Amino acid sequence: MKEISISPKISKGELVRRLGARKGERLSRATKLKVAGLTEALSGFLRPVVHYETRPLARTTKSSIELEKGPIFRSRKIAKSLTGCTHVVCFIATIGQGLEARIRERFEANRLSEAYILDALGSVLVEDVARQFQEFIAKKCAMQGECVTLRFSPGYCDWPLEEQRKLFSLFHPSRLKVHLSKSCLMEPRKSISGIFGIAPRDDWQHHTPYNPCTECSAKTCSARRAPSAAMYAQ
Ligand code: SF4
Repeated sequence: MKEISISPKISKGELVRRLGARKGERLSRATKLKVAGLTEALSGFLRPVVHYETRPLARTTKSSIELEKGPIFRSRKIAKSLTGCTHVVCFIATIGQGLEARIRERFEANRLSEAYILDALGSVLVEDVARQFQEFIAKKCAMQGECVTLRFSPGYCDWPLEEQRKLFSLFHPSRLKVHLSKSCLMEPRKSISGIFGIAPRDDWQHHTPYNPCTECSAKTCSARRAPSAAMYAQ
């Protein structure tokens, strides 16, 4: 099991979206001031880290992928997206427990707007940790003539949330900074787990990599990827 620490950045556009603003709308001056104040205090209690494991891909069927020495992940969309891959990167990313305590404090003190902003900031930050991690692996792969696929998380698309247990089974629980509850939710909440594939770039130049979002009817899905985002290559 490997571990990497990443300094997340706040995407302003993403934060505005998470705070409920519609496209083109701006935050009020009061909200902007609150965001600035809370952001300044953030760095002291963030502990961003990504745990990861890279395993050879042993087998792909129409509805599953099997890693060497297991486990088998069941999802048609993942199976189709990772066809042609040689390896699978499994990861668990988090910004740590500190933010949760601050959100709870605000709730208990009835400072609900601050709790809401902190919650949104946490979502944006952990998403950026996962994004930067994938970019880091993609850069390493590019140097070896490889590229990486889109990433998938348990509970999204057609990958059942219960498969989170299989993903966590790849890591030593005592060394993980993220705990999995009986209902398969992660603690701290601001954590992202997932997988993506690694494929030889030459092989992929001869066909269009699959992006399941292009043929998915889930119109309100917040995780929808652009049609051009079938793979993540540097
Ligand atoms: S839109 Fe894309 S990310 Fe969302 S459920 Fe469909 S395939 Fe999955």
